Amino acid sequence: MRTDAEHTIYLKDYAPSPYRIVSVDLDFRILAENTTVTTQLTIEPRDDTAPGTPLVLDGDELSLTSIAIDGAPLVLSAYLAEPNSLTVFEPPLRRFVLETEVVLQPENNTPLMGLYRSSGTWCTQCEPEGFRRITYYMDRPDILATFNVRMTAPRDLAPVLLANGNLVDRGDAGDGMHFAVWQDPFPKPSYLFALVAGDLGAITDTFTTASGRKVDLAIYCTHGKEDQCYWAMDSLKRSMAWDEKRFGLEYDLDIFNIVAVSDFNFGAMENKGLNIFNDKLVFAHPDTATDGDYEGIERVIAHEYFHNWTGNRITCRDWFQLCLKEGLTVYRDQEFTSDERSRAVKRIGDVVGLRGAQFAEDGGPLAHPARPDEYREINNFYTATVYEKGAEIVRMLATLLGEAGFRKGMDLYFERHDGEATTIEAFLNVFGEANGTNLDQFKTWYLQAGTPRLTVEDNYDAANQTYTLKLKQETLPTPGQPTKAALVVPIKFGLIGPNGSPMEWSGVSGAEVRDEMIVLNTDAAEVTFTGVANRPVPSLLREFSAPVNMTTNLTQDDQLFLARHDNDPFNRWQALQDVGMALALSATKGTPWSDNAVAALSEAMADTLASDTLDDAFKALSLTIPAEYQIAQNLGSDVDPVRVHEVRSELLKAIFAPLAIQLLQAYRGLASDQPYAPDAKSNGHRALRNRLLGLLVASDAPGAANLAAEQYETARNMTDRLAALGASAYAWTEKAPVLLADFKIRFGGDPLVLDKWLAVTAAVPEDGVIERIRTILADPTFPKTNPNRLRSLMGVFAMSNPTQFTRADGAGFRFVAEFVAEIDKINPQVAARVLTGFRIWPMLEPKRREAAKSVLTTLQSGGSLSRNTADILTRMLA
Ligand code: ZN
Repeated sequence: MRTDAEHTIYLKDYAPSPYRIVSVDLDFRILAENTTVTTQLTIEPRDDTAPGTPLVLDGDELSLTSIAIDGAPLVLSAYLAEPNSLTVFEPPLRRFVLETEVVLQPENNTPLMGLYRSSGTWCTQCEPEGFRRITYYMDRPDILATFNVRMTAPRDLAPVLLANGNLVDRGDAGDGMHFAVWQDPFPKPSYLFALVAGDLGAITDTFTTASGRKVDLAIYCTHGKEDQCYWAMDSLKRSMAWDEKRFGLEYDLDIFNIVAVSDFNFGAMENKGLNIFNDKLVFAHPDTATDGDYEGIERVIAHEYFHNWTGNRITCRDWFQLCLKEGLTVYRDQEFTSDERSRAVKRIGDVVGLRGAQFAEDGGPLAHPARPDEYREINNFYTATVYEKGAEIVRMLATLLGEAGFRKGMDLYFERHDGEATTIEAFLNVFGEANGTNLDQFKTWYLQAGTPRLTVEDNYDAANQTYTLKLKQETLPTPGQPTKAALVVPIKFGLIGPNGSPMEWSGVSGAEVRDEMIVLNTDAAEVTFTGVANRPVPSLLREFSAPVNMTTNLTQDDQLFLARHDNDPFNRWQALQDVGMALALSATKGTPWSDNAVAALSEAMADTLASDTLDDAFKALSLTIPAEYQIAQNLGSDVDPVRVHEVRSELLKAIFAPLAIQLLQAYRGLASDQPYAPDAKSNGHRALRNRLLGLLVASDAPGAANLAAEQYETARNMTDRLAALGASAYAWTEKAPVLLADFKIRFGGDPLVLDKWLAVTAAVPEDGVIERIRTILADPTFPKTNPNRLRSLMGVFAMSNPTQFTRADGAGFRFVAEFVAEIDKINPQVAARVLTGFRIWPMLEPKRREAAKSVLTTLQSGGSLSRNTADILTRMLA
């Protein structure tokens, strides 16, 4: 038994391997009962490798059936084969071919890493360390090799045989078997290997690149679902065109395949030329998919496609550099969506997501830098911090360098590092070099965990016509990082004059200020503007130009002024949210809001709704107040989620009940009878209509519950139907149980729509929810091996049902812990993910905190947990 310390991997220990793998020949013999993998690795020592240096390959639950070097079988004393490693003691000190054979049982592979079967289809997932479950290998991203894959399988079970790269041969193999040979000319790390064998349908298309090469595109799926793949195909073609236009990046193979599978741990995977997708991120039909689903599909198709350059052509040297590919690729997919849809709406949505997931992570026991310097289980680092904060860091880089400067850096990155496995340092260097600037201090963003607090206080001196902004940044300690350095914080801003238009100044001093951006790079600064004729209202952190928590001394009047006049739509939205937040916070802490304050916010909301310049999607985002988790995060400690829930519901009623007539009129004015179209405008129309319905229900407006039931019944698409169901269930209206039952009958046969029912059921903030979930889980037909089902039910309960999960009697905590212990034996990644719902425990009020702690301690003392789950638990209790 190894200890945790032995398992910890440190960035500082990185060293290149003594041997290189130049090329890989894989031969898969796929049978119904098992799969035999024969591997030939062409291996070379490095120039400085000492004679007698053992060759150590990784494995995971493998069992070796034969081994040879250059065709000669090895004697037993020449190697040591264990399930998790293969050592050849004295390999030749020249180029040689190591041949191994292992036999796999894909059918029993419930962790869904390596080669597994999903609804009969053989498929693989290798990132980050799944390839070692397929064959013994140096399973690390800095080993780049070309792959040649031969697969043989029963023709009836697997008429479709796919792998990375180009199909170079195929034919009959006798006895009802057939074969295919795939070659990938681009050297790649093992985590990008993929193979699929199954009985699949497909839709096909082509894309002609800017330089005139024709690429064959295909999306494979279960037979019968082909008609649900067209939106994904459309998204793929738009992604390919966008990357050429925006970054000058063309696709590099003649084939691009996507396969949709039903059992998948994440969203999707960027394997070279053969992306494998969770089918929920491929299938779209208006009757079964919502606007959110359509947008998610478009985004993830783009994301995986963009990885072809940022991830595949240039990959990571080691897994500490994960955000090199993920942060950058998320930034790229965000830009794609912004260009395809509405930039402001996209930004608001992303920031809501960032605060909900990443700030929560960064403020709790699981906080870690975007580039961590140690890990015990790399699977636990596919986090909001690596992805979303990673993207924010790239965004700040683009903000600081400007679009042209950023592009220069990207161009140099590809020019210099194409074909390499590299680091964050190399990435920052090209931007520094291309722009003649030093990014040493900027790099701290990658190294330091925690969300900085930015405090701003303004002061106007009428006599001298000067205006001062006092800025302070502070980052609180996080696990393992007691002290923090000052970061480079780009603060986009504007000053707004009394008439609502932008104000000029004649001079500015105290910090670097360029165009409309303050660059704060010290703990504190005082920025003074001269020649300012009137007291301005400052619009700060426009576009959310840095991932910080900002507090200012602005009054409610100032905020409502911004909500009306700011020409930065992000800050208009933010200002309304800030007003709601202030009211919710003070009420939660015991100071009730004043009627005047609520009336003023109510009026601003009414004006927003009535505006004829704002678009529907923006209005939909604005007409609300911060979510419960948001309020809890701002309270920071001693949180009673029930109190937060009650205060928020009351505040929502106080603001929106007086507007019931306007809300209803606006609702009625937005038609619902057009045929479904996925474009941003129609999407915004539905979003606003459904927001209005949600507000009417939440504020108990007369007739609202019936209106929701009516919308549910008459809905012409899933977006409208699910919105009505969700609003009814969340408020637990009289009709809610009937609607839920109806939905289950109508759609229960479609697993992806069943997920929506599971999620709505699990989020109901009412006693009784745990019992209802228990009943669902106890049904023997409930598939406990499918990550989507498990996450929709228990992921949602643990993450999005704060009042029931954190019940004071501890029942919610115990329920989730029992589930984690059970599922950990089937799929450790899903178990570990659900367990992270507990990360809020340190900020709860004492009774709940104790209850959570005792449940976590009991889970830990039970022992026999996977490394994934044990790692999360250890960090959470540290
Ligand atoms: Zn990615």
